[in-house]
Amino acid sequence: MATHAREKLAIDGGAPVRTKPWPPWPVFDETEEQAILDVVRSGKWWSVEGTRVREFEQAFARFQDAKYAVCVTNGTAALEVALRAAHIGCGDEVIVPPYTFIATATAVLAVGATPVFVDVEEESLNIDPAKIEEAITPRTRAIIPVHIAGCPADMDGVLEVARKHNLLVIEDAAQAHAAEWKGTKVGAIGDMGCFSFQASKNLNAGEGGAVITNDEHWADQVWSVHNVGRVRGGRWYEHHVLGSNFRMTEFQAAILLCQLRRLPEQTERRTRNAQKLSEMLSQIPGIRPPRPDPRVTRHAYHLYIFRYYRDAFGGRPREDFLKALNAEGIPCSAGYVPLYRERVFLNRPNSADLCQLSRLKDYSQVHCPVCERACAEEAVWLYQNMLLGDEEDMADIATAIAKVQRAFAG
Ligand SMILES: *Cc1c(COP(=O)(O)O)cnc(C)c1O
Repeated sequence: MATHAREKLAIDGGAPVRTKPWPPWPVFDETEEQAILDVVRSGKWWSVEGTRVREFEQAFARFQDAKYAVCVTNGTAALEVALRAAHIGCGDEVIVPPYTFIATATAVLAVGATPVFVDVEEESLNIDPAKIEEAITPRTRAIIPVHIAGCPADMDGVLEVARKHNLLVIEDAAQAHAAEWKGTKVGAIGDMGCFSFQASKNLNAGEGGAVITNDEHWADQVWSVHNVGRVRGGRWYEHHVLGSNFRMTEFQAAILLCQLRRLPEQTERRTRNAQKLSEMLSQIPGIRPPRPDPRVTRHAYHLYIFRYYRDAFGGRPREDFLKALNAEGIPCSAGYVPLYRERVFLNRPNSADLCQLSRLKDYSQVHCPVCERACAEEAVWLYQNMLLGDEEDMADIATAIAKVQRAFAG
């Protein structure tokens, strides 16, 4: 009887596996409070007078194995600034994966260019280099590989195609602070890399972003676009290119300097816990934990994405599983839909640019089967803050999933 009571699912009125709260996010203490107070009292609240943005740019570039970083307002802006810096615009095509946050593709629209979707790899859900070449046309200018969940994309594969066709590589590393491909941190492995410091991200200032690069030319172009077309060393009222004001405040940089010091230890903890969780989940029928490519020397685990195979769960759809697991006290979700299925692409984007409108694709004809199956049936997301717990927290996740599996399988 006791066993039966324990086994009754929480959605059916049983006791949930877990009622304890998960580790909070963001993580902060008096260090952050003092840093903000210092900026307030200095009276220097913008980067033109203050020193925090510059200091953070140097620290973040160094941390991420890059020579240069330019801080901007957010990750979406970082992508737009990088594209504009490369003079990508109307008539140009940019290759993107469909399994990502909307900004990866809408940044391309925002500069007047056309996003072209290429399906993802089965294992990593990152862009599949083997499928890029067939999407290249004479208009293709760039590829945006996304390191989704914090797992580096196959940069060897992407760079090989890019070099062969003379394309730029702009990494969307918005989820991949501290992530490494073959021992090098991501972001400046391609030509430019874009980061987000939005509230959910592993490095967080509420909002914020950065573009990093190893190329001085790109660093200067990015700097100009983010600073209303000014040039480094130029006069205040001297504007060479079309830019906008994408500058970060000193408040954001002050927080980021504190958060960056916490990041290495947090990354270690997420890695350790993700490995433990994967060992436990690999014992459960119908669950496939993430198995990063051996060339991924650091997965940042912004998300922990595992796969759900309904055959081992009595044929029950993933939505039932998500409801049951949430009820057991384990927060989880289904994640993205393929971006080309979003209304913004199915309706014609609200572009005022006639040149662009004439060149947009009919996105209802796009099919990326690997992405579609992951989105519709298989992918399950857990969140980075859950990985900041301990081994018992990981055991709770595994216990709850195993309980749902036994109940569904009957
Ligand atoms: C968060 C995110 C962005 C956008 O960053 P914001 O700072 O929210 O504008 C872009 N791409 C990916 C993959 C993201 O996860």
